[in-house]
Amino acid sequence: MSYKNTIEFAQKLDAKDELRKYKEEFHIPLQKNGKEHIYMCGNSLGLQPKRTKEFLNQELEDWAKFGVEGHFHAQNPWMPYHEFLTDSYAKIVGAKTTEVVAMNTLTVNLHLMMVSFYRPTEKRHKIIIEKDAFPSDIYAVESQITHHGFCPDSSLIKLKPRNGESVIRTEDIQDIIEKEGNEIALIMLGGVNYYTGQVFEFEKITELAHLKGINVGFDLAHAAGNVKLELNKWAVDFAVWCSYKYLNSGPGSVAAAFVHEKHHNDNLPRFAGWWGHNKEDRFKMPDDFTPITTAEGWQLSNPPILSLAAIRASLSIFDEVGMEKLVSKSKELTDYFMFLLDAIESDRIEIITPKERGCQLSIRVKNGNKELFDKITQKGVIADWREPDVIRIAPVPLYNSFTDIFNFYSILKQVL
Ligand SMILES: *Cc1c(COP(=O)(O)O)cnc(C)c1O
Repeated sequence: MSYKNTIEFAQKLDAKDELRKYKEEFHIPLQKNGKEHIYMCGNSLGLQPKRTKEFLNQELEDWAKFGVEGHFHAQNPWMPYHEFLTDSYAKIVGAKTTEVVAMNTLTVNLHLMMVSFYRPTEKRHKIIIEKDAFPSDIYAVESQITHHGFCPDSSLIKLKPRNGESVIRTEDIQDIIEKEGNEIALIMLGGVNYYTGQVFEFEKITELAHLKGINVGFDLAHAAGNVKLELNKWAVDFAVWCSYKYLNSGPGSVAAAFVHEKHHNDNLPRFAGWWGHNKEDRFKMPDDFTPITTAEGWQLSNPPILSLAAIRASLSIFDEVGMEKLVSKSKELTDYFMFLLDAIESDRIEIITPKERGCQLSIRVKNGNKELFDKITQKGVIADWREPDVIRIAPVPLYNSFTDIFNFYSILKQVL
């Protein structure tokens, strides 16, 4: 399609957009002048769906009405409440329903998964991660390495782009796997790198790793609800994600995990809690732990229902729309965005996000000049700045329009 950098053209694209009505389903934060912000920060905290309040109220009312009996008698009984999320999550990450579970928070789940999938030995003790992975992930893998008596200096391989490049090449990962594969226990990558927005080649990396007996896990914080995933088909061993970014379930809301079905009967070592115990006799409080033979077997505690209610509200929107349509609009939004940024023709900014991307674009600002970011913020844009030199922009297909993108472009152009 040939694009134009005019507001009329952006409005025309909006008029043709099948998903445009979903913007109405969200609360868009207002500026002091009463106008809506240009919200481009769904990669950090997704907006609140208007229907969330209703879902939360239902549980507050049932708690008032039933007290403890709500576990069985609430309209949506709390005992199996996490199971109400399973179908939707399975669709979002391309899994079987037995392979996903909502529980804990993201970094906690990453640790729980590593308890099962990072079992280092003298010969095989290394982990591969991106050098610019989200800091929490680096802290988590380093602490797992030291917990097992190894040292990050010799056991952690940090992937870097080549000199002068911004993203990591799969062939470089392949090289490391070929050279050091027998010493590598785990590859743990952000499915979509939080900084550059690069989407990794999930299937290829998993396949190469498995040839050498390496486990593969992905942190899908920036991928779940953003890009098309096929975790079961790709044979990924485990994955974890949070629900408050693209999944719009509220600050700090409960996270989730995927464990491939091939591992459900492996008797993998794990940290256990009563909620992972088989459901038939959980309440008989038996002495011995026998795990549920699905991803649910990794649960520890009974989950916070109010948080799960917010996730249910949001997932009901994903059920209506489906990942296919979301991904397709996302691609159109970022294509248009790229066109407009090219049209600015400024050597002060550069897009470092590769073609393999979701809806996030990372704009590198020359000399790490944060002033540019502060100025667009003053003009009503909510985006985020990541040290040393990147503005992350995420036009989210559920609630961002082509007009939003055009308006962002106008502001950026003016400021530059
Ligand atoms: C957002 C994010 C986190 C945050 O972790 P929490 O445990 O939810 O606080 C961790 N890792 C990645 C890659 C993220 O994008």
